[in-house]
Amino acid sequence: MIKFYIVFCSLIIPTVMLWANKRVIVLSIDGLPAAYFTAERSREKMPNLLYFAQQGSLFQPVRSVNPTVTFPAHTSMVTGVAPAIHGINGNHPFEPFRDTWAEWNWYAEDIHVKTLWDFAHENKKTVASLYWPVTLGANIRWNIPQYYRYKNREDIKLLRAMSTGGIYQNLEKQLKISLHENSTDSERFAAGAFTVNYYRADLTLIYTTDLDTAHHRYGMFSEKALQTLKTIDTDFGALVKKIDLYNKKNLIFVVVSDHGFREYRGACLPNVWLKNQGYIQPDTASYDFIFRSHAGLAWLLPGKQSKHPPVPVHWSAELTTTCPGITLVHSGTLFEKLKKESEPRALGFLLSQGETIVLQDHSSELVYWAERSFFSHGYPADDPSMATAALVYPAIKKNKTISSITDIFSLVCSGLSMRCHAGEPKNQP
Ligand SMILES: [Zn+2]
Repeated sequence: MIKFYIVFCSLIIPTVMLWANKRVIVLSIDGLPAAYFTAERSREKMPNLLYFAQQGSLFQPVRSVNPTVTFPAHTSMVTGVAPAIHGINGNHPFEPFRDTWAEWNWYAEDIHVKTLWDFAHENKKTVASLYWPVTLGANIRWNIPQYYRYKNREDIKLLRAMSTGGIYQNLEKQLKISLHENSTDSERFAAGAFTVNYYRADLTLIYTTDLDTAHHRYGMFSEKALQTLKTIDTDFGALVKKIDLYNKKNLIFVVVSDHGFREYRGACLPNVWLKNQGYIQPDTASYDFIFRSHAGLAWLLPGKQSKHPPVPVHWSAELTTTCPGITLVHSGTLFEKLKKESEPRALGFLLSQGETIVLQDHSSELVYWAERSFFSHGYPADDPSMATAALVYPAIKKNKTISSITDIFSLVCSGLSMRCHAGEPKNQP
């Protein structure tokens, strides 16, 4: 707690005079890699974002968090702490035997610490949020939470019921937009501009998804991804115009993302390897050891019966031989750092050093699939390809920087003139 408080103070106090009592907009463009801000073929697709950065500040590379996946990263932006502390340390609840068929970590009640919307509420500030991850049930005045059940029109009824403050119906009435999982980013940007102008919330959170989708399907710098980037940039330009950003003195606009991307070739299934040795028993839905995986980073968890068993020393060599490009770390500085960042209960971490992806599945027969190839994030946060960027308008002081996505939290608190303590525990049900 003390450590986080120091980080908080050092970032916000010197800028508070410039930033006090503004309205803040945070836009997250899911899966926007730092590399897009240096390569000409991507830079030429985003004149509006680059103009925005020129008028304000551009920070890249910005480190994501471990694991470098969407729900943990977005929760770190609104809490200022690592997934190990805020508790959303995966996109999905860990259910290796499908106990409840839970799909995604949708629920704000699962966040262990106070969020930006909690501090806003305490400070009598209003918040509007459009599809921000892990906000279902959040104490947000105008909230459309991210949630889907079937990715079809049935979801719209659910979202109407789950949204707060009448915002869902109002967007339908005024813009003819029913936001849901398959909405386009153009609709999300249009809804964002309307929300900023109509509700005038102290804090507005906007979340877009199309670039992440294009990257998973076609890869970074693919023609489809660059087209998507161009569309996002055009829609972003329209949003900035609609809210008249550059002529307003009371708005702070932060553009962020959650992680980068990379291509992988070859998949490792360490839980099949554990199952083959009898450590995972599917018949009784139990295990002595099991890996929880996030693509390029997986952690080893103990079963209920064996609280803290030592990790057998020969496992490192065996796993590296079986799965090329994979390293098992179960002691030393890196191990302690990863535990502190992602999962304090971990007995060890599997790290992808190269392109190999680590899958959690234990039902197949093969431990390594050489022919598997695709695009993903979820690699260790210190892998340069996982880095992202942050853009802030108006510019923040030259000696201040955003080096981690967790810095967004204190930046927003500063803009809203709120005293926020990153990592402050929250009452949970
Ligand atoms: Zn993401």
